[in-house]
Amino acid sequence: MNFAERMKKIKPSATLAFNAKALELKAAGIDVTSLAVGEPDAPTPLHICEAAKKAIDDNFTKYTAVPGIMELRQAVCHYFQRQYNVSAKPENVILTTGGKQSLANTLFVMLNDGDDVLLPCPYWTSYPDLIRLAGGNPVLVPASSAKGFRIDVSDLEKAVTPKTRMIILNSPSNPTGVAYTQEEVDAMVKWCFERDIFVLADEIYDQLVYDGAPVSAACWWEKNPEKIAIVNGLSKAFSMPGWRVGYTLAHADLIKQSSKLQGQMTSHMCSIAQKAALAALDGSYDCVEEMRRDFLRRRDLAMAEISTWPGVVCPKPGGAFYLFPDMSALLTPEMPDGTAVCTYLLEKARVVCVPGEAFGAPNCIRLSYSVSDETLMDALRRMKEALYH
Ligand code: PMP
Ligand code: GLU
Repeated sequence: MNFAERMKKIKPSATLAFNAKALELKAAGIDVTSLAVGEPDAPTPLHICEAAKKAIDDNFTKYTAVPGIMELRQAVCHYFQRQYNVSAKPENVILTTGGKQSLANTLFVMLNDGDDVLLPCPYWTSYPDLIRLAGGNPVLVPASSAKGFRIDVSDLEKAVTPKTRMIILNSPSNPTGVAYTQEEVDAMVKWCFERDIFVLADEIYDQLVYDGAPVSAACWWEKNPEKIAIVNGLSKAFSMPGWRVGYTLAHADLIKQSSKLQGQMTSHMCSIAQKAALAALDGSYDCVEEMRRDFLRRRDLAMAEISTWPGVVCPKPGGAFYLFPDMSALLTPEMPDGTAVCTYLLEKARVVCVPGEAFGAPNCIRLSYSVSDETLMDALRRMKEALYH
């Protein structure tokens, strides 16, 4: 068959592929531990599930407005008010089928063919493909493990091109766990605004931070709404990845354009999930805090173990639920990169990790600590044993 040229620009999502691989091995009865998972291990809180069941019983099962029901758009505004003291109106919010669709909408609405997009690297695996699909070129801004995978304006200065139109800033970061401080975010956003570079801030892990309060670029949106969009969603904070709930906060005109696009592509997010999302955003955040504490404990357990691995450089993550060790010191001609390390670990330790290649860092591997303490420690010990036998 002859497929469209655009399909040559993208690969399958590596993170989803590795999740699927781990599930497949388990289904085949093979005793593997997956540290490839990109989702919280906790169940979706009960009060959220109850709201969805009620939506079904109430027959809230018909089409809704494309950007979502008004109460939910309002609930997103409450979120920004409550969390970041930022005042937004429902016209500034669109609900989407996951943060991924918020990103895709914004890229499609904002980019012209040939526009450059600054992308701090390591990056989340879907960014380059989404940028390319929207006609843009990812321009990588390298961040080394030696510098804790952090970038600052001097790195942006080195990477910027005359065609730079946008930046994707993801904090806390998947895969590195880097969580920028408010001052760091402020400096980078200011630098972009001065050069008329649109900021796409992916804050999907904003609630999962371990050193201090959540940080957002939303205060900059309040000052310059036409220069920035904030993407977030409920997959991580409320453990709802399968429900597909994302949202964008942006200028009302950008929201209108996103609605136009989404109205032709997918319409609105699922009506039942909208009611569940409303219960989540307007309900108690105790469940979020409980999950955050579990992740914090596991991060510390995992860091304590990994810091005993000679040669491995693993900056301590400040957020999200991933570790991104740089395995360079252990690479050999037989095991030349992170992909080979993952293959070896699967064979020898029966642990699934995601190769750093998927995130633009081929010497690294990504492991998720979104598993029980026992599973995590057992997997890490097996990995150490395999790597240093
Ligand atoms: N951004 C980042 C950095 C992510 O890790 C994810 C998780 N897949 C997403 C966006 C999208 O999440 P979702 O579509 O489930 O809301
Ligand atoms: N964000 C998760 C990950 O990076 C989920 C998978 C995906 O949506 O790509 O593993």
